[in-house]
Amino acid sequence: MTCREVTDFLLDYLEGELSGEVLRVFEAHLAGCEACVAYLASYRRAVRLGASAFRDEAGKAPPELVEAILAAKGGGSIRDGAPAPRAEPKSGASPSRA
Ligand SMILES: [Zn+2]
Repeated sequence: MTCREVTDFLLDYLEGELSGEVLRVFEAHLAGCEACVAYLASYRRAVRLGASAFRDEAGKAPPELVEAILAAKGGGSIRDGAPAPRAEPKSGASPSRA
């Protein structure tokens, strides 16, 4: 297995989807390749950061987005033929994260 192949299998490896034989070859390469070990470590950390960031975004759907989705669904919340709500800045949307 080459380093290039390792990068191709990296995501599957992190998700535990590598089959036995491929997994053995994969780990055998890691055992003797510091570059791939370092790459794996940074990749794993990046995935974790990305996952947590995504979870954070999903946890706080902005009200503008909710309204836009409801309007797009034609949920009857639009009256008097009012145009679709635009992304106006609303109060209370101040990010208070340090
Ligand atoms: Zn390698």
